[in-house]
Amino acid sequence: NLSDRLESTFKKLRGRGKLTPSDVEKGLREVRLALLEADVNFRVVKDFINRVKERALGAEVLESLTPAQQLIKIVHEELVHTLGDSAVPLNLSGPKPIPILLVGLQGSGKTTTAAKLAKFLKKKNLKPFLVPADVYRPAAIDQLKTLAKQVGVACFDSQPDQKPVDIVKQAMAEAKAKGYDVVIIDTAGRLHIDDEMMAEVEEIKQAVEPRDVLLVADAMTGQDAVNIAKNFHEKVGLTGVVLTKVEGDARGGAALSIRAVTGCPIKFLGVGEKLDALEVFHPDRMASRILGMGDVLSLIEKAQEAFDLKKAQELQKKLKKDAFTLEDLRDQIRQMKRLGSLESIIKLIPGIGSKLKDMPFDEKELVRMEAILNSMTPQERRNPKILNASRKRRIAKGSGTTVQDVNRLLKSYEEMRKLFKHMRKKGGLQALARNLF
Ligand code: GDP
Ligand code: MG
Repeated sequence: NLSDRLESTFKKLRGRGKLTPSDVEKGLREVRLALLEADVNFRVVKDFINRVKERALGAEVLESLTPAQQLIKIVHEELVHTLGDSAVPLNLSGPKPIPILLVGLQGSGKTTTAAKLAKFLKKKNLKPFLVPADVYRPAAIDQLKTLAKQVGVACFDSQPDQKPVDIVKQAMAEAKAKGYDVVIIDTAGRLHIDDEMMAEVEEIKQAVEPRDVLLVADAMTGQDAVNIAKNFHEKVGLTGVVLTKVEGDARGGAALSIRAVTGCPIKFLGVGEKLDALEVFHPDRMASRILGMGDVLSLIEKAQEAFDLKKAQELQKKLKKDAFTLEDLRDQIRQMKRLGSLESIIKLIPGIGSKLKDMPFDEKELVRMEAILNSMTPQERRNPKILNASRKRRIAKGSGTTVQDVNRLLKSYEEMRKLFKHMRKKGGLQALARNLF
């Protein structure tokens, strides 16, 4: 799947330390393949890769100490851009009742989405009114009526022998009379786009002037969903797309193409059959999800702000000479304390990998560690071997900790040193980094 592919590509790059232009090219070639395999439209992929490449081959990335992270950041930003930059909410302004029209092919998830939207709006303290207007399959009307009961919202009593446009007009009148806020209209779909379906949608649209016309499209159909969106948009004019079944494997592919190809914003994601499996679409969250990184990106950004690159370079030199002292450890701790999360920053220290992640660091631990280090003399920090039992007791007392805490810190420090030593033996920091990541 797309996330896994991208993750492994970036993993390889991370292990390389400094990147050459050809590393970047190779990496982006894999990103390109991953996107194409995820069924992203090839034109969209081409544009995307070009934009990333242009930025990635600049000094910003190649000369940074954390080129892979920089590259990931650029890929993330360009993904966000492709996905539409920012979230576009439903248009709920203006006089009520507000009609929302759902269109799309059969089986795309219109009826389910209608009920999900009703639930979503109900949570926002709005009064939704569901309107079944799919008269071709009597079961479809009952389906929405049943779902409405489950959600606990009102549903128009459509009859299968009514014309859809009449249903919709009557439903609007009833909504107005009863003070409903939003009227959600579930229309009939076909197996394929045909003129009759489009004409019907057009007629309903003219009758009620919906504030939002949402295409419900099945993400699992990949490029088909994109073509359907394009077609609907050209013929009836959409204000947005609800992408359903996104929890499946095709995750990301259709989303990436739809906005770029149609210019239509994705407004919601359907992520399951249950009625609360509806998410507001946020381009940045989707991008993070595609990259399989959750909130790691914002941490990287934070780390970059707080991390003193010059100090990192000095540290790297010291590590090469096996001159990593408790003074350096204290510097590191002070830098780390400026961050919320340790793991992210530890991974950013050049030449130190995920192994250190398992060390017993948490926020409180850091405060404790710094207190202990502050209670030592500079000589002791530079050469902890001179610490004897009575000095350890004094340090524990001075820092409000215990001798065990002092010993634990010294042990962690020894482990780090051993690790660094091991790194050098194994053929340099670069080689170790490659093994660790
Ligand atoms: P319609 O013909 O467009 O009205 O489609 P339905 O709402 O009847 O949905 C068709 C099928 O897709 C049903 O089995 C739904 O449970 C399922 N479905 C709808 N949305 C989602 C979704 O987001 N995820 C999953 N996994 N299934 C969905
Ligand atoms: Mg239906």
